[in-house]
Amino acid sequence: ENFLARLRHTEPQLNSFLHVSDAVLKEAEEIDRKIERNEEVGPLAGVMVAVKDNICTVDMPTTAGSRVLEGYRPPFDATAVRKLRESGAILVGKTNLDEFGMGSTTEGSAYQVTANPWDLSRVPGGSSGGSAAAVSARQCVVSLGSDTGGSVRQPASFCGVVGLKPTYGRVSRYGLVAYASSLDVIGCFGSSVADAGILLHAISGHDRFDATSSTRQVPDFPSQFVSKDFFEAKPLKGLRVGVIRETLDDGVDPEVISSVRGATSHLEELGCTVTEVSLPSFSLGLPAYYILASSESSSNLSRYDGVRYGNQVAADELNSLYEHSRAKGFGSEVKMRILMGTYALSAGYYDAYYKRAQQVRTLIRESFKVALDKNDILISPAAPSAAYKIGEKKNDPLAMYAGDIMTVNVNLAGLPALVLPCGFVEGGSNGLPVGFQLIGAAFDEEKLLKVGHIFE
Ligand code: GLN
Repeated sequence: ENFLARLRHTEPQLNSFLHVSDAVLKEAEEIDRKIERNEEVGPLAGVMVAVKDNICTVDMPTTAGSRVLEGYRPPFDATAVRKLRESGAILVGKTNLDEFGMGSTTEGSAYQVTANPWDLSRVPGGSSGGSAAAVSARQCVVSLGSDTGGSVRQPASFCGVVGLKPTYGRVSRYGLVAYASSLDVIGCFGSSVADAGILLHAISGHDRFDATSSTRQVPDFPSQFVSKDFFEAKPLKGLRVGVIRETLDDGVDPEVISSVRGATSHLEELGCTVTEVSLPSFSLGLPAYYILASSESSSNLSRYDGVRYGNQVAADELNSLYEHSRAKGFGSEVKMRILMGTYALSAGYYDAYYKRAQQVRTLIRESFKVALDKNDILISPAAPSAAYKIGEKKNDPLAMYAGDIMTVNVNLAGLPALVLPCGFVEGGSNGLPVGFQLIGAAFDEEKLLKVGHIFE
């Protein structure tokens, strides 16, 4: 009741939700009854979880922030959602996002603009801005987002919460509306590292409905948070931390750089050995990402033909039915990506763009491998700046894309990364939060969670 009251009170200013469940109290009562009867309840019993609206839910609409899916009710739950329900979590509702996850501000939703709880005139980041704002404003305890190029980590930084992007394949993508399938991952928001780690544990693991989900054993992430190391004087002694030189460069807000430097000094106090590392191909990540993500999305989005899903615009002939349904259903950013992707994939341009970008992707993956052989974790800012004003980059897509420089490389390499708050910069009435990013080796979320937990 408290959460719902707070949600009702804050939602008119924030607009973080596209849909609020009407079953919250009923589900809570059901859990109470089970506890009274001494029946077993899951590890997330009664925990209020919000879910990004590009993750399928059988009892609520799933629009992916697009008119093309307006009113769509999936006939199934995403695997992550099914696992949440099995753990006893209560689904609060579906959160706002940039259409199909394409954007960095949540202004690209076809339905509403979400505000940043720290300053209502600013963006919460994106594309999972609704999920980040909801945790930040305590409209829920934890939430799910998705991260194709930074969509969990950048909004976590803008909203002052913890954001966790798991290794590609750690969490099933079954029921996640596809943007760029080789990069997409479901990720977690929480107000602490422990919350995000416990949520990750609940949704991880192999799934026969997603062939790219890993068959590796899922470690007991929650046990990290009761480790005895926590009480030692230098709990992170011997841990090798590499600060990525290319991420503390000219284009980054000096206040962000000094917050990240503050975080690295704190890691040194905790016993880490901090050095600088270079990822020479770092700046190639952005163009490679936008070519690959657009290419994959142009193919993935071909399924919205007005016949199989969502909205249909009537026409007297099949091709015009497709044309009109897509013309009306997709927003301008999505159309631009489809055009870019189709261009990059077309005969004659394929070698120059798509193939080239794939080669760059291999380079980036290899340079991370070299850096992570010498270091246990790598560090960078989560974004070049704190949250900016609503409307500021709306008509300048290149400026918006440039803001993804800190996060896209990690998706190209498929690695896990954790963003956590490390300070405040000038802005708004109380200052604006900024986060820093810890990057780990594939499937080593455990180390990130341990370091993050001790750090905070
Ligand atoms: N901002 C990036 C994009 O628009 C990343 C989005 C995401 O991770 N879903 O593609």
